[in-house]
Amino acid sequence: MRDMAAGPRVLLRRLRELMAEPLEPQERLDRIVREIAQNMVAEVCSLYVLRADAVLELYATEGLNPGSVHLAQLRLGQGLVGTIAASARALNLSDAQKHPAFAYLPETGEEIYNSFLGVPVLRAGRTLGVLVVQNRTKRHYRDDELEALETTAMVIAEMIATGDLARLTRPGLELDLRRPASFTGLSFNDGVGLGHVVLHEPRIVVTNLFNEDSDEETRRLEQALGSLRLSIDDMLSRRDVAFEGEHRAVLEAYRMFANDRGWVRRLEEAVRNGLTAEAAVEKVQSDMRARMLHMTDPYLRERMSDFDDLANRLLRQLMGHGPELLASTLPKDAIIVARSMGAAELLDYPRDRLRGLVLEDGAVTSHVVIVARAMGIPVAGQVKGAVSMSENGDAIIVDGDEGRIHLRPQPDVEGAYAEKVRFRARRQELYRELRKKPSSTKDGTHVDLLMNAGLAVDLPQLAESGAAGIGLFRTELQFMVAATFPRAETQERLYRDVLDAARDKPVTFRTIDIGGDKVLPYFKSVAHEENPALGWRAIRLTLDRPALLRTQVRALLKAAGGRELRLMLPMVTEIGEIMQAREIIDREVRHLSRFAHDLPTLLKLGAMVEVPSLLWQLDELMKTVDFVSVGSNDLFQFVMATDRGNTQISERFDPLSVPFLRVLKQIADAGHRVGTPVTLCGELAGRPISAMALIGIGYRSISMSPAAIGPVKAMLTELPLEELTTLMEEALAHPNAAKNVRGDLHAFAEQHNIPL
Ligand code: PEP
Ligand code: MG
Repeated sequence: MRDMAAGPRVLLRRLRELMAEPLEPQERLDRIVREIAQNMVAEVCSLYVLRADAVLELYATEGLNPGSVHLAQLRLGQGLVGTIAASARALNLSDAQKHPAFAYLPETGEEIYNSFLGVPVLRAGRTLGVLVVQNRTKRHYRDDELEALETTAMVIAEMIATGDLARLTRPGLELDLRRPASFTGLSFNDGVGLGHVVLHEPRIVVTNLFNEDSDEETRRLEQALGSLRLSIDDMLSRRDVAFEGEHRAVLEAYRMFANDRGWVRRLEEAVRNGLTAEAAVEKVQSDMRARMLHMTDPYLRERMSDFDDLANRLLRQLMGHGPELLASTLPKDAIIVARSMGAAELLDYPRDRLRGLVLEDGAVTSHVVIVARAMGIPVAGQVKGAVSMSENGDAIIVDGDEGRIHLRPQPDVEGAYAEKVRFRARRQELYRELRKKPSSTKDGTHVDLLMNAGLAVDLPQLAESGAAGIGLFRTELQFMVAATFPRAETQERLYRDVLDAARDKPVTFRTIDIGGDKVLPYFKSVAHEENPALGWRAIRLTLDRPALLRTQVRALLKAAGGRELRLMLPMVTEIGEIMQAREIIDREVRHLSRFAHDLPTLLKLGAMVEVPSLLWQLDELMKTVDFVSVGSNDLFQFVMATDRGNTQISERFDPLSVPFLRVLKQIADAGHRVGTPVTLCGELAGRPISAMALIGIGYRSISMSPAAIGPVKAMLTELPLEELTTLMEEALAHPNAAKNVRGDLHAFAEQHNIPL
C-alpha cells in the first residue's frame, strides 16, 4: 500500500512546486496535466471546466489535439465527461467507447483511446469541472490511481475557486462558480440586505493542502480523531443529555460516524497520498457531500448533516481556530451564510457590519432567528444549497420578505434590489417624521403603540421606533441565548439597563416563559412531552420551580428600585395561579424591605390571556389583576387548535375571522366593563390591517415588533375610528360567521386612503 501511495505523493509534491512557480494560468494548467499524465503513465490527461452556461469546456490537455483547447465542449450530462459532472461521480472504464454515454468529439482526436478514468473536480460538494486520464490499452485503473486523481482534482478545485482560471475564460463567458444563482426558502424576518457572503463555518479556510511528512500527518489526524471521539463520549456522559431523546440520538450518530471505519480509512488514505489532515477531511467530506446531494431520502440527507458537523468539528480540532479570526476580515456589509448556528454565535458578529442572515436549516422560532429579528436583520431560512453554492466574498442579496437569496446577482437584479432598499429608506424617513405626530386616529382617539423586546440589542429601537414604551419584554430570551442559567446579578443588570433606556416610558416585564417551543439547552424537563405546547411551560413551570421565579422577581424588584415595576404572568389558565405567583412576589417584597432595599414605587401585576379557559372567567380576571395583555399567538393556536409553528396549516385559518375577532372583542369589552387596561402583544398587533381591526373592536393599546410601529402609525393617523367601529360591529353581529372581514377591511382602507 505504501509503495502504491508513493506515486500520488510524488505527484502532489510536483503540483505544489508548480503552484508556487510564477506561471501564467494556462501554462500552469498545461504543466499540471502533463505532470499527471506522466505520473499515472497515461497517454492523455485533460481538464474540463464547467461554465455558467452548463457547458464543460476543455481547458488543458496532454495527449489530445492541443488545438481543441477552449474549443472542445460538452453539455452537462452529455458524453462521459458530462455524465461525471452531472452525477458528481467518477467513471472508471476499460473500454470507454462501449459506454452508452460515450460521445465522440472529432476535434480532439480521442478515438484511439480505450480506457478512461474521469473524476469530478469538487469543492464543498459542488462540481466545478472534470479531470480525465486516458490510455490506448484496455486497462482498468486501480483504486489508488482513482484516489490520486481525486486528490489532484482537489488542487485544481482550489485553483478554480481562487479565481486563477477566470482569466482564461473568453469574454462573455463565465465559469460556473461565478454563475448567478437564486434560491428560495422561507421568510424568517422581513427586510432586504445587500452585501457579501461570510460563511459562518470555517470550512474554506483549508489552504494548506500538501503535507511534508505523511507519517507525521497521520499521527495528527489520529490525534484529532481521538480527541473528537473523547469529546463526543464526554458530551454523551453529561447528565443533561444522558436521558433525553433527540439530542442524544444525534450524539450517538456522531459517535458512530467518528468510529466509522470507511470514513476513517478514506481520511487516512488521503493523508497517505500527500494531503494535510485538514485537506483530507475536506476532500472526503466534499466527495461524500457530492454523492449524497443526489439522494432524495430525507433520512440519509439528515445523516449527511451529521457528517458535516463532525467534519467541521474535526477541522476545528486540527486547525484550532474559533471565531476570533472574524473581526478583522469581516466585510462592512456581511451577510452570514450558515447551515445552522447558535444565537450566541450571531451575537459574536459586530452588529454594525451585519446586513443579513441566510440559514439552510432553522425555523421561525429558532433562537438564532429570534435574536436576528431582535437585531433587525433580514433572515431567509431553509435555503437548501446556500452554503455549498457560496464562496466567501461573493456578492449576495437576502430578500427576507420573500425568503429568497440571490448569489452573485446580475446587475439588473442588483439594481432592482438597490431601488427597493432606497424605497424602504425613504419610507423609514417618512416613519421617522411620523414619530413627532400624536399617536391617534384621524378623529383624535389616542392609541398606545408599544414595542416588544427581549434583549439588550433591542433597546436602541425604543427611541428609533418612537414606541410609547415596552408592552412585552420577553425575559426568557436572555435565558435562551445563554449557555447556562443567567445569574441573579446578570438578570438584574439587564432589567436595570432596560429601565434606564426606557426612562419614563413604561416597561412590562413578562416572567420567564419557557417550555413549549422555547427550550433552554441546559434545562430540560425530565419527562418527554407528547404535546409540549400544552405541557409544562411558562407559569406552570415556574410555580413548580419557585426558586427560578423568586430569583427573577428579586432581580426585577431590585432593578426597579425607586421606579414603577410592571410584571406580567404568561400562560395563565386559572386565577389561582395568579394568587400563587402573587404570594411569591409579596414574599420577595417583604424580604427586600427587611434588608432595607430600595423598592419599586409602584408594583403592577398583570396576566396574559393566552389560554381559552380565561374567557369564561374574564370578569374575575379583570378584578384580580392591574392589567391584561392578550397573547394572540398562543390564544389563536389554542382557540383554533392550530399549531403556531406548523407551516402546513399556517395559512389555513384567518385570525381576522368572525369567531376569533369575537373572542378578542369579549376580552376588550371585559376590560372596559371592569376598568382594567387591556393590551394585545401578539404578532397580530404588528400588521397594519390587523391592528386596524383590533382598534375597530375596542383595543386602545397594542404592542408589536419595533419595525412595525412606523407602518401601524401611518395607518392609525389616517383612520376614521367611528366609521370603522360601526363596520366592525356589523361584521361581528353578522349572521354569517364565514363573512370575509379581511376583505371588508381592505375595501374600507382603500375607500379612506388608509395605507396598509
Ligand atoms: C403570544 O403568545 O402572543 C405572545 C405574545 O407570547 P409569545 O409569542 O412569546 O409566546
Ligand atoms: Mg405566548
